[in-house]
Amino acid sequence: METMDEVEAYRRALTRERRAREEAERLLEVKAGELYAAKTRLSRLNEELERTVEERTHRLEEAHLKLRTLIKNLPFAVMVEDGQRRIALCNGEFCSLFGVPGDPDDLIGTDCTQTGEYVKGLFAEPEHFLERVEELLEQQEPFLGERIELADGRVLERAFIPVSSSGSMGHTWLYRDITEAEEAAQELEQARRVAESANEEKSKFLAMMSHELRTPLSVVVGAAELLDTMVTDSEQARLLRLLRGNADSILHQITELLEYAKLEAGETRVSEGVFDPVVLVEDVVESLGTIAIDKGLEIFADVDLALPLGVVGDAQRLRQLLVNLVMNAVKFTERGTISVRAKAVHADEDTTNIRYEVADTGPGIAPEEQAKIFGRFYRVEEARRVPGTGLGLSICSGLAEMMGGGISVESELGRGSTFVLECPHRVNATGPREEHRPTRNALAGLTLAVLGVSEANRGPVRRLFEGLGARVLMHPPGRLDSDWLDGLEVIDGLLYDPDGVMVAESVLTNVLRAHEQTTSVPWVRVYGMRPLDAAQRAVLGSAEQVGKPLRSSAVAAAVRRAVGRGEANALGSDALQSSVLSGPGRSLTVLLVEDDPDNRAVLEHQIHAMGLDVDIAVDGRMAIDKARRSTYALVITDIGMPVVDGFAFARAFRELEARFQRPRTPIIALSAHLQAQHVRRCEEAGIDTYLTKPCPVSVLRETIERWVPSKPAVLVVDDAPDLRAITGMRLSRAGVVDVAFASSGEEALEVMTTQPIGLVLLDMSLPGISGPETASRILARPAWRRVPIVGMSGDATTEGQQCARDAGCIDFLVKPVTERMLRTLLEQQGLARTAT
Ligand code: ADP
Repeated sequence: METMDEVEAYRRALTRERRAREEAERLLEVKAGELYAAKTRLSRLNEELERTVEERTHRLEEAHLKLRTLIKNLPFAVMVEDGQRRIALCNGEFCSLFGVPGDPDDLIGTDCTQTGEYVKGLFAEPEHFLERVEELLEQQEPFLGERIELADGRVLERAFIPVSSSGSMGHTWLYRDITEAEEAAQELEQARRVAESANEEKSKFLAMMSHELRTPLSVVVGAAELLDTMVTDSEQARLLRLLRGNADSILHQITELLEYAKLEAGETRVSEGVFDPVVLVEDVVESLGTIAIDKGLEIFADVDLALPLGVVGDAQRLRQLLVNLVMNAVKFTERGTISVRAKAVHADEDTTNIRYEVADTGPGIAPEEQAKIFGRFYRVEEARRVPGTGLGLSICSGLAEMMGGGISVESELGRGSTFVLECPHRVNATGPREEHRPTRNALAGLTLAVLGVSEANRGPVRRLFEGLGARVLMHPPGRLDSDWLDGLEVIDGLLYDPDGVMVAESVLTNVLRAHEQTTSVPWVRVYGMRPLDAAQRAVLGSAEQVGKPLRSSAVAAAVRRAVGRGEANALGSDALQSSVLSGPGRSLTVLLVEDDPDNRAVLEHQIHAMGLDVDIAVDGRMAIDKARRSTYALVITDIGMPVVDGFAFARAFRELEARFQRPRTPIIALSAHLQAQHVRRCEEAGIDTYLTKPCPVSVLRETIERWVPSKPAVLVVDDAPDLRAITGMRLSRAGVVDVAFASSGEEALEVMTTQPIGLVLLDMSLPGISGPETASRILARPAWRRVPIVGMSGDATTEGQQCARDAGCIDFLVKPVTERMLRTLLEQQGLARTAT
């Protein structure tokens, strides 16, 4: 039994063992399979790895080759060291720079720590060279642009760049031969210094010469200007025109040279003052208007009357700049129009940027020339036929820059050019001291018909009138259109430019006269070259006239006077046009203080020619003496005089005025060399305005007109138009410039409210209010009580004369009134001085 159990146990144990073995065999089989799969994967990975390594090695070799090729071909010397300072790479340039014979590859492996001996002969300061190498190696920072001198005089530039190589730091050294570049830079610097000092010398020389030449030239120009008013022979006049034209041109060019020299030498300063931008632009246009109109060009100022009344800036420089641009426009333009515009491009309460434009219809400038013309001495080839220096625009651009602005040109060949100046200004709400701009509502509520304004002028004229508050009915361009006249609504006034209507003025006048509407409407006539004289005005029946180029103040004043709103010359000097200075009732004396005899002679003549008396003082001390004893309508003084100069004299003059409680007399200063600091001193000394010598007679006249109080006119009252015209003509011939007309007593009273009248010539037999009645009414007004009235009549009886005297007439003339009678009358009235 026991044996059976044992056998059974043994059998079970055998079975367990067999199963365990079977299980182990199966596991072994599985593992063997896995092992096989892993081995296969491994060998695949291995293959891939080998491929990658091969590829990378290939790429590395390629990159290395490229680097070597690059380094070998670099135009500067390169040497790469490994971490043990053995040469790993260098190029041919390195060998040739340091005089190493053979192939650069022969140097590979060279120990750089052992090259001390070689280095000693190579560098100008070998010790320093070696020290620097040690320093750089220690710092391990890139260092570029180090200058090294060789013993043979060459100069190298070195760069040191540490690079990490095989776990240790290697280094790249770069060298470049800069000997030639350095020499060139030194030569250039030397040349620049020489040029600078030559330029300074040149500027000094230019300034001196220009100044020296300007003084005598100003005498030539002034004398020629005077001669022009005296010469009657046409050949002499032609020669004189030639002389004047050329003298003006030389003077202009010399002035440009002087200006340029001053700019170059940094002597040009901009000063600050308050000015009215509208007036400034209109002044520029007016001062060059005659030249443009003489050349057959249209010129006008197209300014925005909404611009601030006062802005801060250097009015004189700005004027100079604009004058330059307008002069160019006139010079280069053969036909068409020049417009000078001003408008605000950016404005807030305190500042305004004004865009000034000078546009012409001249030849235009090719795009490739446009940037060059602002360079000095540059002139476009085709422009060389007209005189010039090529400096104008470069001066303009210098001045613009100084004023904080910029200048540019927009132009197309064959279509004209527009020069644009943009300038920032601070706003000064109170405006300048003198008021020359009409108010924005000067013509408010008026409807005006405008006739004969040229195509180009239509826009600006409309803007001008609308800017003054008027409504404009514009006649279509071209021939006079009677349908337009017939369709005209009720108007307050008619402004016409006979040049633009393309019919003879007499025809135009007749048409207008015949026209129901316009006969009762006041006309204002625009003229280009010359105003009509009194007689012509009387014949044409147009009461007011205004000269081109139109300026807002003159237009506003003329229209206001025409429509009966005028106030005695309140809108500026233009109101009385050229008549301000001479005429009856005037005996104005100017004190002229000038030490230079030539200048004195020219100025004396010029002022005399304006119908003024001149009292001369040859220096400031004499001027003070004279001022103590007499009063003057105006003082014109030089600045630079020995002993008592213009400033000191002006101060003394103002003190005298205060001491004797005299009214303030205007003082105009004249100087050949007005500098920024002088302008301030002028103001401090009580000088009202200043002019630069040489001063064209037109500018002198304009300035004197502005400062001398206006003068009254002679009023002719006669119902017969022909007699009116003839009397007017005779008065003109007798030297009276400003004559007013009235055809009835009522009209006479009306005229006197609009214009200062110094003498009335009154027909005694007028329809409506009679002559004696008119005289009584005039004299009844306190303001007119002192106006002398002279009766005129065909009735030579004593009763007639007595009647006139009873009415308050101071004298009586029997018709026909001859020129001689008028001259005698003017003489008796103390007005004969102007009756030449
Ligand atoms: P200048 O007038 O003395 O020649 P500028 O410096 O004033 O010198 O002008 C340089 C050049 O620019 C002129 O020579 C001319 O070729 C050109 N230029 C200037 N203004 C005008 C213009 N309004 N129309 C055409 N070309 C002009």
